[in-house]
Amino acid sequence: MQFFSFAEAKPIKYKRCDEMGKIRDKKEQSKASKFIHRIYHYVQNQGNVEAKILSLRIAAIYIVIGGAWILFSDRVLSVMIKDTHAFMVIQTYKGWLYVFVTGILLYYVVKKQTRVIFETQQKLVESHRKAELANEKLKAAQEKLEEQLKVLTQNQMELKKTEERYRLAIEGANDAIWDWDIQREDTFMFSRTKEMLGYEEDELENRSKAWNSLIHPDDFDRVVEELYRHLEGKTPYYQTEHRVRTKSGEYKWILARGKAIRDSDGKPIRMAGSHTDITERKEKEEKIYELAYYDSLTRLPNRTMFDKMLEQAIHEAYQTNRKVIILMIDLDDFKTVNNTLGPDYGDMVLKNTSVMLSDIIHTKGTVARTGGDEFGIIIYDNGDKYDIEKITSELKEAFQVSWHIGDYEFYITASIGITVFPDDGQDKETLLKHASTAMYEAKKVGKNTFCFYTKEMNDKLIATVKLENELRHALENNQLAIYYQPQIDLKTGQVVGVEALLRWIHPEKGILSPDQFVWIAEYTGLIVPIGEWVMEMVSNQYNLWKKIYQWDLNMSVNLSMKQLQHYDFIDKIHNIINKTHMNCKKLKFEITESIVMEDANTTIAKLRQLKKMGIKIALDDFGTGYSSLNYLRELPIDVLKIDKSFVHDMIENFHKRAIVELIIDLAHKMNMTVIAEGVESSEQISYLSQYRCDMAQGYFVSQPLSKEEFELFMNMNGGYCRM
Ligand code: C2E
Ligand code: CA
Ligand code: CA
Repeated sequence: MQFFSFAEAKPIKYKRCDEMGKIRDKKEQSKASKFIHRIYHYVQNQGNVEAKILSLRIAAIYIVIGGAWILFSDRVLSVMIKDTHAFMVIQTYKGWLYVFVTGILLYYVVKKQTRVIFETQQKLVESHRKAELANEKLKAAQEKLEEQLKVLTQNQMELKKTEERYRLAIEGANDAIWDWDIQREDTFMFSRTKEMLGYEEDELENRSKAWNSLIHPDDFDRVVEELYRHLEGKTPYYQTEHRVRTKSGEYKWILARGKAIRDSDGKPIRMAGSHTDITERKEKEEKIYELAYYDSLTRLPNRTMFDKMLEQAIHEAYQTNRKVIILMIDLDDFKTVNNTLGPDYGDMVLKNTSVMLSDIIHTKGTVARTGGDEFGIIIYDNGDKYDIEKITSELKEAFQVSWHIGDYEFYITASIGITVFPDDGQDKETLLKHASTAMYEAKKVGKNTFCFYTKEMNDKLIATVKLENELRHALENNQLAIYYQPQIDLKTGQVVGVEALLRWIHPEKGILSPDQFVWIAEYTGLIVPIGEWVMEMVSNQYNLWKKIYQWDLNMSVNLSMKQLQHYDFIDKIHNIINKTHMNCKKLKFEITESIVMEDANTTIAKLRQLKKMGIKIALDDFGTGYSSLNYLRELPIDVLKIDKSFVHDMIENFHKRAIVELIIDLAHKMNMTVIAEGVESSEQISYLSQYRCDMAQGYFVSQPLSKEEFELFMNMNGGYCRM
């Protein structure tokens, strides 16, 4: 990258200057001395020539005048003077005159020339002296110049070294240097940056315009702002990280740094700096950012990001006096998909759901995956209920469509809880808490629906929390009781067993049914000790009844998922049986399909272990769940309990009757015993008997009864039910 003109241009100039100076100095020196010599020689030569000419001239004049005198003076004299003596005397005088005149002439000529020579010599000596003086000065100047040249050469060498070091450092640092001549309008040198971006030198002009055209449009304003901040003196140096377009069209991240050079008024006149390719670092940063803030499966923002975005949305809504709608979506029975079809299918469901949600929300808000099968949506809206209801019903509709993944077709529904800022809460935590309250409410009212958060829900929640605390002490306070509902043999009407049903004798609320508190016991884990207590009570009761009344009843105990999933469930059962000496053959565990589906492999393994012990397994509420017949074959089931919803209107509803008949048939084919639940009328009894249903349980026989009531019931009817 060439931009520092001093880096290349100046030294050359200096070099030239020095050499020329040197040459000039030497030349000047020799010229000076030559000049003196030349003057000297000139004067010498000139003098010689002039002297020669003058001598010749004088000699010639002398010869001519002398000759003419000798030739003509006698002749003239002989004409004028006829007297020989006088002629002789005058001739003598004439001779003397000639000698005298030529003598004087010679004197003047010689004198004049001698003076000229003397003066010339004087001048010569003077100029020689001056020349010598000049020569001396010249010598001194030359010495000084030589001294300066030495310093200059040394400086130049230093500069070269620094430059070399600088160049190496730049090359080593993989930086490109740029130079912007602000005064010369647009001159922007960035040759090495061009190289870095894959452009040829002549492909882009060295102008800031060309450079600006490469900057990513999303980064442009920021770059300009940063630049002006520095030019205005607000920052000590200019620094930005932005994207620039390479020749291939991709973008590279560069770190641009620079500093302005200012004139005495502080006005920036030039700016120079570096461009560093930071693409790799940026990509790593982006990767880290993505890992930290995005869900790798769905590519949606994760919980952390969702929280941040929600905070931001609340902040903006607060400032603009607008509303924010928060939706909490939980897929219904997602675990079943995961456990029956495998995690790959579960992943596909989550991916498809994320695409579907993103399509519906589009630009109206943000979709995030906030948990396993939980999605969060932030909608930036004016809180208009109609709009939000439109979105929720769109969501609900989308969840009604069946999924085709691989060879399977199934339905996934969702329960949606909705809260609105600022109506339902002022801060993120409260809003999220209320959204999940509303979501659980949607689950409670039967799933596959949406619920807006209401204050009543919160009151309910507070009541639940209170109930939860009370339940923790219910066992130790002897508030729990077991009610027994008789089960009769449909052939004989004899009570052959009971189903143990839990009750909570609440000091204020009276007798609470399991539907009012078992779900709390389940999510708090309290169901584990409570379940153990039920088992122990039932076992003891069996023994007591057998001992006192010789009733050998089948004892049915309901199990919930949490109990079965507990790591030492089997051990605990063993312990209780050992402790109570319960006859395992008379023990029956009732489980629902959803329990099995939750974690089929471990559940089946545990059920097999129970079966090995002689305990029977009943599939409760049959017909309401998945009722996968293929699946049923794999389960170690002895008893099938037809759900009361089928029995309830089997008299009026032909279809229900057909289903009941079919279930009975099916169960028998698989060597299972069938119990009809919720039998409330003699008509139902007679139909069930007709369809060869094995047993019945319901209000027609008896409501669930306390231990004492049950004993009374049995003793009054002799252990039979009149049909
Ligand atoms: P479930 O196992 O289906 O029990 C039968 C439910 O049907 C009982 O409700 C019973 O009172 C009711 N029922 C019986 N006959 C009739 C009838 O003719 N008509 C109508 N309408 N209902 C009838 P309950 O006692 O309220 O129990 C509700 C659920 O609580 C049970 O359903 C069972 O799943 C659960 N549960 C009860 N006891 C326990 C327990 O000890 N442990 C666990 N984990 N769950 C329990
Ligand atoms: Ca049951
Ligand atoms: Ca049932």
